[in-house]
Amino acid sequence: MKKTIIIKYGELSTKKDNINYFLKILKENIDSLLIWKHFINYDRGRMFVDVDDEYIDKTISVLKKTFGIHEIIVGFIDNEMDFDKICDNVLELIKEENFNTFKVICKRGNKKYPLNSMEISAKVGGYILKNRENIKVDVNNPEEKIYIEIRNDAVLYYLNGILGLGGYPVGTLGKGLLMLSGGIDSPVAGYLAIKRGVKISAIYFESPPHTSDFAKEKVKKLANVLASYSPNMNLYVINFTKIQEAILKNIPYEYLITIMRRMMYRISLKIANKGNFKILINGESIGQVASQTLTSMSVINKVVDIPVIRPVACFDKLEIIDIAKKIGTFDISTLPYEDCCTVFVPEHPVINPELEKCVLYEKLIPYEDLINEAIKNVNIIKIGKEEKYQDIL
Ligand code: ATP
Ligand code: MG
Repeated sequence: MKKTIIIKYGELSTKKDNINYFLKILKENIDSLLIWKHFINYDRGRMFVDVDDEYIDKTISVLKKTFGIHEIIVGFIDNEMDFDKICDNVLELIKEENFNTFKVICKRGNKKYPLNSMEISAKVGGYILKNRENIKVDVNNPEEKIYIEIRNDAVLYYLNGILGLGGYPVGTLGKGLLMLSGGIDSPVAGYLAIKRGVKISAIYFESPPHTSDFAKEKVKKLANVLASYSPNMNLYVINFTKIQEAILKNIPYEYLITIMRRMMYRISLKIANKGNFKILINGESIGQVASQTLTSMSVINKVVDIPVIRPVACFDKLEIIDIAKKIGTFDISTLPYEDCCTVFVPEHPVINPELEKCVLYEKLIPYEDLINEAIKNVNIIKIGKEEKYQDIL
């Protein structure tokens, strides 16, 4: 018997026709995440990851953060398939396990095997009872479930595994651009988009000297956490100062935020088009602030013609915080910082902005030129592999 890490796919297995596409990307993602020697083999039912024993724990930590995996199991595989050998292997598998009740669950993919799965479960169960004392079978609520899978060319043996993150392998659904601020909501929005198979990069608007390098470092840290789920992302840092100052100088106070956000959307759209990102993603949540009323969102949204996905749109703040804690962004997001929105926030922003007024006010600033200049000076930070691994391990 040889130790192997077994991956079960869950939701992926419902992808009948294009499952191979999903599995190929899952394999590539795991390949790029494991920087130690490894071998990956898969079929439509299972994926196997083989590493040296001392790397098993590290490999599992990586797999636990990889989308597209339903369950991760450390099991055994043996090419010898005769029934006596199966019985011996099962005893070996449970040698160090303590339990009072058990159940053998057999799955037979190889229909030519002389015994069917019921017969195998029953016979192996009987063999265990003969060779171990003080245990009994409980088919309804066993303490230990012992799994045997008869494949075409090998037999798999395993006990319970660890639940994976589910979702789709990152990149299977294309690329999206996340508007990433230093707050709590946008990293969670990014995580949820990644979960659905979207490979993300991030865009961050800074306004030096009104916002500090510390604020940018914070966003880089958040991007790093997200990169442990969606490898190799770019962080596009846009200097927003001139635009913001022009808005502040020329635009009526209650429209500051609405127009600032329309500018952010315009820039994000241009970066998205250049980088072949199909959607924008942000952390807007209905009703949270004045710029997130339905009228505000609709007026702001008018400047883009690609979908804007708002994964936390319908979540309460507490639900968002729960996810932020689970994925490890909460403690970073709650570090003190100044955001380019909060620096210039008016006391009474308009709750129901009018599109015509936005268009009229925007004529007061040469925004096309300012936007092109900001994009020309974009600073692209590669959120790299090494940093990412320090986070995971
Ligand atoms: P968050 O907690 O994510 O910062 P928020 O509650 O502070 O959200 P807003 O400041 O209104 O809400 O921003 C709404 C969304 O707009 C953010 O979730 C983010 O996606 C985007 N956003 C806001 N500020 C920036 C910024 N400086 N750079 C990039 N994106 C931003
Ligand atoms: Mg914010």
